[in-house]
Amino acid sequence: MKEMIYQTICPGCGVGCGLFIRENDEGKLSIDHMKSSPVNLGKLCRFGMKLPHYYAKANNAENMVDGSAVDAETAIKAAVDILKDADTDSVALLSVGNTSNEEQMAFTKLAETLGTVVQTGVQKMCMPEPRTLAGIEKAKKIVLFVDPYVQYPLIVRRLLAAKQNGAHVISVGTKPLNLADETLDLKPEQYGELELDSESLIIADVHPNSDAGMVSYVKALAKGTGAGLQFMKPFMNSNGAALLANKDGSRIGLAELMEDIELGNIRTLVTLDSDPVELMPDAEAAIEALKKLDKLIVISSVKGPATGMADVVIATDPVYSKAGTFLNVEDSLQKNSGTGKAGVDALSLLNAGIGGKTFTHDEMNYLVMKTIEASKDGPSGKMQCSGTDIAVSSTDIPEDMYELRYLYNPFMWSDREDDNDFVLLNRNTVKKLGLKKGGCVNLKGEKGELKMRFRVESIPDGLVLTAKKLSIAKGVSTAISMEVC
Ligand code: SF4
Repeated sequence: MKEMIYQTICPGCGVGCGLFIRENDEGKLSIDHMKSSPVNLGKLCRFGMKLPHYYAKANNAENMVDGSAVDAETAIKAAVDILKDADTDSVALLSVGNTSNEEQMAFTKLAETLGTVVQTGVQKMCMPEPRTLAGIEKAKKIVLFVDPYVQYPLIVRRLLAAKQNGAHVISVGTKPLNLADETLDLKPEQYGELELDSESLIIADVHPNSDAGMVSYVKALAKGTGAGLQFMKPFMNSNGAALLANKDGSRIGLAELMEDIELGNIRTLVTLDSDPVELMPDAEAAIEALKKLDKLIVISSVKGPATGMADVVIATDPVYSKAGTFLNVEDSLQKNSGTGKAGVDALSLLNAGIGGKTFTHDEMNYLVMKTIEASKDGPSGKMQCSGTDIAVSSTDIPEDMYELRYLYNPFMWSDREDDNDFVLLNRNTVKKLGLKKGGCVNLKGEKGELKMRFRVESIPDGLVLTAKKLSIAKGVSTAISMEVC
């Protein structure tokens, strides 16, 4: 039996765990652990272990025009016709970092020809330079603004090693963590109680739906105390996407981009492995916004809600079989052994079709390496302040209501099934509502009602956590009322 073995990284989050994907001659996929991968030493979380399911052929995108399957040439030609006719001021390109650096660079070339920029879903802002994940193990005090078990599972081993080295771990948040020495539910004005110094490390995250205020507070905390700051990111190549997007021009957040679509300022959207319906907390609102576009062009390796709505779908190779490189959250460059170049080739033809130059995968790789090299000349350890800072925002929850909050995780970002069909409530809430073990709770919001199973967790009063996208959610945080089913 002939078998292909691909050396690749997991597309589940920015940790970028290395693994092998085996593909037999019937197309059946299986996983092999890559013990030599310094990021994860062969270990994978539940999402990584389910990759054969994630990569199932039925999930692969297909070239389509107006809902009908076509060959790649026809799809690219249809996309060229759309872009040639479009008013360039009303065209937007979106790529959050779910694909290789080489495709990212090719997308940036397309943006340049169109006279626009690649939006990464995150507003341009000052960001600290990434730190090594191994550095977590050396910190004396670690403050977590993320739930590593749920959000970035393979940093747990780093945190446990840090604890063995004597680190004191504090979880600032809503949910107690097994590995934390203490969990503090602090308001930003109380962060001084953390008593951080230059031997401390803050681990937070930034993504298209981050609480902008929180990101600002965390950055201010690091700056004011001299503590190190590691921002985790949910996409396999978030760092590559940010580095390779056009240097000039305005980069706006995903919510702002969707608002521009809603308002009719953006009439044509081109996405590269970035599905707004999966990325936005309110999937229904995202679908309604996308319906307002004149044209939607989706360039993707996987099917998703947006591929079903697109005027044109240009299919690329599954991530594991792509040629190319990726930058994980610590800016470590990882390389796929695959040879698939369909994405770069399609972008080259698309670029040439609208008046730009053709390019090859090798040329894109050369530009990627040059850009990475040039980025190393930046001031080490300093905030990369190339944009304005973001404004503080908050959600007001009326006193008699509960806050339904998203607990983001790899399954949620890619809208894949997982065993997370329940909400977390605390004991007081369960008692107050008269909920019975094994029963269900009825969640009510402006968008309707939903019956859910629940689990009891030591979280603050008034909070309801979900690791699964819920139809009643309006955003990362939603005011709801609850009653027994
Ligand atoms: S920690 Fe992230 S990259 Fe690693 S296996 Fe899990 S989802 Fe994939």
